[in-house]
Parts: sequence; structure tokens; C-alpha cells
Amino acid sequence: MWRHQMVPSRQAVRTAAPFLLWMALLTLANYLSNSLLRVEGLISFPLAGGLLLGVLLLTPRQRWPRYAVTAFPLLALTRGLAIGPVAEIVSPTTLIFTGSSILLTYAAAVVLGRDRDWIEGRSDTLRAWARFGVVVIILIPLVSAFVHAAVRTPPHGHSAVHYGFYVFTNTALTYVVLTPLILRLQPRQLIELHRSGRSLEAIVSLAGFGLFAALIFEQPTVLPLFLLLPPLIGILFRYGFVGIVASIGLLVPIAILFTGADYGPFHTMALEDVHNALLLCRVFLILTFGIVVLVAALLHERERLLHLRQADRDIYEMVARQSGDMAFVSDLDGRIIFISPVATQVLGLAEGALGDFDWRAHVHPDDMGIITDGMQRVRAGDADVAYVFRAYDVNRNLLWFENRVRLSTSNKDAPRFIVGSTREVTARILREQQLETMAAIDALTGLPNRREFNEQSRLKWRQASRLGSYLSLHVIDVDRFKDFNDVYGHAKGDDCLRKVATAIRNALKRPEDFCARYGGEEFTVLLPDTEPEDALMLGETICAAVRELGLRHEASDHGVVTVSIGCATLRPIFTDDDGSLFEAADAALYQAKRQGRNMVAASNLHKVIDIPHVIQLPTKRRR
Ligand code: GH3
Ligand code: MG
Ligand code: MG
Repeated sequence: MWRHQMVPSRQAVRTAAPFLLWMALLTLANYLSNSLLRVEGLISFPLAGGLLLGVLLLTPRQRWPRYAVTAFPLLALTRGLAIGPVAEIVSPTTLIFTGSSILLTYAAAVVLGRDRDWIEGRSDTLRAWARFGVVVIILIPLVSAFVHAAVRTPPHGHSAVHYGFYVFTNTALTYVVLTPLILRLQPRQLIELHRSGRSLEAIVSLAGFGLFAALIFEQPTVLPLFLLLPPLIGILFRYGFVGIVASIGLLVPIAILFTGADYGPFHTMALEDVHNALLLCRVFLILTFGIVVLVAALLHERERLLHLRQADRDIYEMVARQSGDMAFVSDLDGRIIFISPVATQVLGLAEGALGDFDWRAHVHPDDMGIITDGMQRVRAGDADVAYVFRAYDVNRNLLWFENRVRLSTSNKDAPRFIVGSTREVTARILREQQLETMAAIDALTGLPNRREFNEQSRLKWRQASRLGSYLSLHVIDVDRFKDFNDVYGHAKGDDCLRKVATAIRNALKRPEDFCARYGGEEFTVLLPDTEPEDALMLGETICAAVRELGLRHEASDHGVVTVSIGCATLRPIFTDDDGSLFEAADAALYQAKRQGRNMVAASNLHKVIDIPHVIQLPTKRRR
């Protein structure tokens, strides 16, 4: 218990230590400004405001009031002591100057404190710096200048405007230099620099720059001032913002001290008036700082975008590797500008072989049209174009790919590109093809099924229509099959159907002839380019073939399994398949059944057939 009361907690030490340190530093800075940096009754470079702003921004917000309230007596005291007499400590000028300076700094901290990224040095966006500039180079100095000009009678030889401008540049410079210095020269940043093994180099560079600056501000000519920019930019490239903040932090006191001591180019420019020389010097320093910060912020922005783009690519690559998709960008003629490295894996290319990647060398010649057609559609403005094509990998394996392509959407005025992704879909296509075959084949007989028959019927109809040729059709039905099942059982029935199917298939000699199991014990045969007599003859061959299988069928008049066939032929000229061919063949089948089965009957079609070529056929034939 007593320990709690006697020994301050670690937390209390952690808050009290920086507080005491900062307050001591603030007091010292204010004393220096009011004694050493005071030239002929006017401060040439105040230190307290910029320092306090930096300190507040580094401190949790709830402690700000404590800092501000403590800073007030300390700053008033040091001002009074530095410029004496002792009564100056509580003079209205001291109280107003000190009070207004603390209030303005507090207000600036409230505005700038929102951007934690900027304060913690994580981001140096142009926006953040612009906000900083508006607050500390325009707003605070302006108010400060008004307060000073209103409260204090300008020293001898100064107009109120001149004095106001003097205070303005003075105030702006303290914030511009000291606040970033306090914010950025954090132990963390310095340790990082040390770890990178560049701390010695940095110290030498900085010392060199300081020496160079001293030389320039010691001599009287103006032109060498411009020589300050190149090393500053060099330091920016090498050490980034920290380097800049440190070198400006070095440049400013050198410039002010030399100019205040009647040296340097500004002394010459201001015709040896020290106040004017200091004024010019401060304007120069603020402008220099502005230029360097602008360059730094632009650089930062560019770097950030590059990082983002790289991160985008990394993420994409990761996803692409998982999925095997390849992304590509090409110009409108299909010349590849970028293709993701996954392509080497998919196509089996050597790593790095994508430099002069020519996709045309891989695409199957028959599918080139699909790709050029797709590109044409993209160029014409189709929103999302997808197509499937075949291409060879390096080992000449034929693979299937699916492309999804569109125009780049970024900027209407910018040159446009084709962007897309390519996915290897070989496995999918093979599976689909397999399913399709399965769906097209009748499981019992292995013949194409009714769906496939309909498909082929349409196809062959169109072919015949195009060529102006005949198309014949058989509808085949097993005779008395119900009875067959009843006598021999369903399994034997199935067996019988298989044998009949094989007999039908074997009877067909031309590759374009097509037979299918239409359903139950019914089959169909499509015979392209086959004239009526030939169709009839083939029908008889089939009839004979089935009969000659010699499958016992006691319930049938013929003693063996037989079929009846309805046959029809027509020349489909300029018409679509309206089912007339099937109807006719079916009608003929009915005829054949009626006439006693085990025979072929043919129909004549007066409706669609090209009449002059019709050959009148006997409606029945019995064997
Ligand atoms: P018809 O000579 O007039 O054609 O007489 P049918 O007995 O063949 O007449 P129907 O068309 O009425 O009978 C067809 C029979 O075919 C009915 C059905 O039991 C049988 N069937 C249909 N599909 C199958 C099959 O896949 N397997 C077997 N075993 N029998 C089938
Ligand atoms: Mg039937
Ligand atoms: Mg039947």
C-alpha cells in the first residue's frame, strides 16, 4: 500500500518525463529567441511557437491543456527575464504576445492533429502538406501580425505594415521549420537510418551541406543562393523527408545568424539594413522550403502509386496462380503488352519466355477465326465478350481455353487496350463432351437416341435442302413385341432389342446413313441423298437382316422376330423440316402393319417433293 503512495507509478513517470523535458526545452528556446536571436529590439527568429506545435502534435490530445497552461507562465517569465526589466514579465505586451502565440498554436494543433498519418510520418501527401502550409504560412502568421501591429508601437524607423510583415515572416518560419523537425526527427526514424548503415554518411552529408550553406551566407553575392537547391534535392532523394527536415533545420539558423550579423547576400540586397535583410532571408527560406516540400510530396505520391500498383499486381498474381487464370493486356490489333507470368506454367514455356510471346503460334488454325471475331466484337464495343478456342502448349498438346475480354475502361481519351483473362478449360470441355455423348446415346442398344435423331434430322434436312438432294427416312417397329415380352420375359426382350439394333446398324453401308433408337421397340434410319427406290431396297435389306437373325418368336405369324418398316422420301427444297417426312414414314409403317407386318411400305409425298422427279412407288411390298 505504502509503495503506491510513495513511489510514482511507471505510467506517471512516462507522462511526466516528456512533459518536463519539453517544458524545459520550450523555456530554453524562448530565452534564446529573446536574447541571442534578438537584433535591435526585434526577434529575428522566434523558436517557441513552432516547437510547441510540434510538441502538442506528438502528445495525446487530453494533455494539451496542461501543456498550454504551463507554457504560458514559463514563456512570459523567460521573455521578461531575457529582455528585462523584471516588470516586463507581467507587462501587457508580454501577456498578449505570449497568450496569443499559445492560443494560435493550440488552434493549429486542433486543425492539423486530425491527420495522424501525416503527423506520424506515415504519409506525406500533397494534401496534408497543403493543409499544413495554409495553417502555418498563412492563417497563424496573419493573425499574429495583426496582434503585434495592434499592440506594439513599431520600433523606430518601421511602419506598422513593415512591422506586421516582419512578424508575419517570422511566425511562418518558426512553424515551417520547427514543427516538421520535431515531428520527423523521431528516435524511430533515426534508428532506422542507423540500421540501414547510412547514419555516418548522413552526418557527413549534412555537415557538408551546413558548411556549404555557411559559405554562401558568409559571402555577399546573390547568385550562389541558387546553388542551395541541388544539394537539397539530392538529400531528399537519398534520405527522404527526414533528410530534408534536418537540412532545413540546419540551413535556417545559419542563414539567420549570418544575416543578423550583417553578412551574406541578403545584407547586400537590403542595402545593409539588417531588418530588411532578415525579412528577405526569411521569405527566401520559406520559399525554398515550399519548393522542396512540393517536390518531396509529389515524389511521395508517385512512390505510393507505384507501391499500390505493385501490390495490385502481387495480389493478382497470387489469385492467378491459385486459379490458373492468365491476365493479359493487348493493343487493339492483339499485340500483347502484358501477360501474367502464370502463362509460362499453363503453356509449358520457359520462365521469362513471355518477352516476345506470340499467341498466334499457339492457337489451333481452325479456331483463329473465333479469336479474330471476338476481338472484332470487343472493338465494336461489346461490353463483355467470351469465347472458347483451342491452342497448343509447347509439347503440342491441344488444350481448350476460355477468353473473357473487354476494352480497357480507364479513360476515354487515353489509348484503349483490350484487357482479358484466359482460363484453361480442357477438363471442363472434355467432361461436357462426355456428358453430351452420354445424353445422345441410348443406354440399352448403344445407338443414338431420339434426341440425337431429332438433331440429326434437322441437320440432314438442311443439308438436303442446300444441295437439293433427296432425303429418305425409315421408321422401323418390331412386330408383336408386346407378345414377345409376355412369352420370353422383359430381359429377353431387351436382348432382342440389342440384336435388332445391331442388325439395323450393320445393314447401313454409307457413313452418312444414320440410325437411332426412337423409343421402345421403334427405330429410325435417316438416309441422305437416297432416292426412293434405293431407300425401299435398303428397307428390305433391313427387314431381311432382322428376320435372318432367327430369333424365335412363337407368338408371331412368322415364327421369328421381324420388323415392319415405313419408308418416305422427299426433296426438301427451301423449306424447314415441318415433320412431314416423319408423318409420311409413320403412315407407311401403319400401312405395313396393316398389310401383315414383316415388310416395307413407302409413302409418296406430293406436298413437298419436287414433283417432276417423283417416282411412283408401290405402296406395299410383300416378301
Ligand atoms: P405391333 O406389331 O403392332 O408393333 O405390336 P407390338 O406388340 O410391338 O405393339 P406395341 O407397340 O403395343 O408394343 C410395344 C411393346 O414393346 C410394349 C413394351 O412392352 C415393349 N417395349 C418397349 N420398350 C421396351 C424395352 O426397352 N424393353 C423391352 N423388353 N420391351 C420394350
Ligand atoms: Mg411400337
Ligand atoms: Mg411393335
